[in-house]
Parts: sequence; C-alpha cells; structure tokens
Amino acid sequence: MTDPVPLTGEPLALDLVNTRPAGADLIATVDGLAAWLALEGDRVPEPETPAAADLAPVHAVREHAAVAVEHARRGGRPPGAALDGLAEAQRLAPAIKRLSWDGTALVATAERPGRYGVRLAAHLAEAAAVLLADPAIGRVRDCEADGCTLLFLPAHPRRRWCSAARCGNRERVARYYARRK
Ligand SMILES: [Zn+2]
Repeated sequence: MTDPVPLTGEPLALDLVNTRPAGADLIATVDGLAAWLALEGDRVPEPETPAAADLAPVHAVREHAAVAVEHARRGGRPPGAALDGLAEAQRLAPAIKRLSWDGTALVATAERPGRYGVRLAAHLAEAAAVLLADPAIGRVRDCEADGCTLLFLPAHPRRRWCSAARCGNRERVARYYARRK
C-alpha cells in the first residue's frame, strides 16, 4: 500500500522515517519535501522553499534514523554508522539560542548556520537523537495492517494502526468481508 499523504503527528523523527512507506518516497523531490515541511508546520525550522541540494542531507538523516530506530525499538544497539551519521548532521549546523527583542521582552529562537538543507538535517537529527534516547522508543510499533510499514508511538497501548482513517477502517472492512465468506 502506498499513500501519497504523509502520516504526521508522531514524534518528528518517526514522521521523517514514515515519509518512506512501502514502495514510495514522499520526499524524493523538492515538491514532496516542501509539502511535508508544510504539514509539519512549526515543528521544523523557518520553512523555506527547499532546493535540490537540500534533499541529500535530509535523506541521509532519514536513513540513519530509520536504521537506529529499528534497532533501538527492539532494545538493541544501533550500528555505530547510524549514530555517527546523526551526530555528524548535527555537527554541521549546531544550534545557538539567538535572543531578539520583541518590543517588550527577549525571545530566544534556535539559530543554525549553513544552507537550508543542512540546517534542516541538523534539526531532524537532533529530534532523532532525543527520541532514540527516550525510554519511549521501546514502545514504537509498526502498523498491523497488511503491507503498511509505518511506525507510530502509541499513547494508548491498544492502538494497532498508524491511523484509523488510513489503515484501521480498511482492515476492519477486510475482516468483515472475510468473516462473511
Ligand atoms: Zn498503517
């Protein structure tokens, strides 16, 4: 199953990994990446129109995050290359707190150097690092629907689908017809 609309609303690092559902890559192109960034809204740094050169660093972080999550969610030690990749992406654009005056008070915003793709990759790698070090990583599951590879972090232990609208309903209908045969 492929769905052209990315699943969002999970921890940012899972949303990133989920942009590559079975057989598809929803952020393979600049337009795809821009659409995903728009869906993520203020969870990603000051959205800019991405350029072709911005794709590679984001794809690299996604690959490292996917590998690390697959190991960590099963209680295993992720390959060093994946962890090094996440560290390197952050090293290329480390964040500082930039203070600005909004007229009445100081406001701190994260500021990173470099071109957009490198800053975005650093932000996503940091989100992955936070998730991977969180004990909640052990609760990350994959969707039970046939052919769906999306990952989610259930707030409720009985959640079985990446989303009810996407897979839950489809599976319920399939089971209903299977029972009637
Ligand atoms: Zn699903």
